[in-house]
Amino acid sequence: MKQPNLHKYPLIWRKDDFFIKIYCSIPNVATGILLTTSKNAFIIDPGDGILRDLNQDVGPEIILLVSDIFISHGHHDHVGGVWSLLTYLSVLRRKSPLSIYFPQGCVEIVSIYNAFKKVYGKELSYSIILKPVTSEKSFVKNSMKIKPFSVNHRELGPDGITSIRIPSMGFKFTYDGKSICYGGDTAYSENLAKNARFSDLAIIEAGAKDELGSELHMTVEQASKIGLTAKEYFLVHVPD
Ligand SMILES: [Zn+2]
Repeated sequence: MKQPNLHKYPLIWRKDDFFIKIYCSIPNVATGILLTTSKNAFIIDPGDGILRDLNQDVGPEIILLVSDIFISHGHHDHVGGVWSLLTYLSVLRRKSPLSIYFPQGCVEIVSIYNAFKKVYGKELSYSIILKPVTSEKSFVKNSMKIKPFSVNHRELGPDGITSIRIPSMGFKFTYDGKSICYGGDTAYSENLAKNARFSDLAIIEAGAKDELGSELHMTVEQASKIGLTAKEYFLVHVPD
């Protein structure tokens, strides 16, 4: 069993042409993930800095190949890079449509999209297709099976004391008989545990500083318990 790698970014995993690179996953700062196969290029949770990281790492040719963006939830450290990414694709005069999958009810993505269309709508070279996810039904994109699943993420409510549940999900990507399970942000979730089990790679957040924080995130202990049921796992989103 490979030991979890807590802090060193980027984190990279590859099996044949199934490849994932986590550029960053720092709570309250940014997440940014690229997933590719010989047939696909996806971005998962484009937080702040994703465009800089992709441009430096893979360049405009690969950025133009990205067909879909997957959003686990609307917190700024998971969507902060959406605006610049969408703008850059238009600067590159992208022609093919871009789909954005996100949990139904995620107001941040809809708000970014509406504001973006207002500012750049007339000159946009490509169409953006919003795909609110309403069920856990799997779908296939170029030989990649994608299964969304709901998790249990929360944020502090207006009183700053009690927390409220927000639309949040993870995604399981299966390609060529191998699977990567990304849980997004979540407190301990049986649904995540079920989807992570037996996956080739589980990417599990461990964002709780202590037991008190575990209503919003998982402790390292909780996250490791889930990770150990996969063939390999990364613990991400670990506070400094
Ligand atoms: Zn979050």
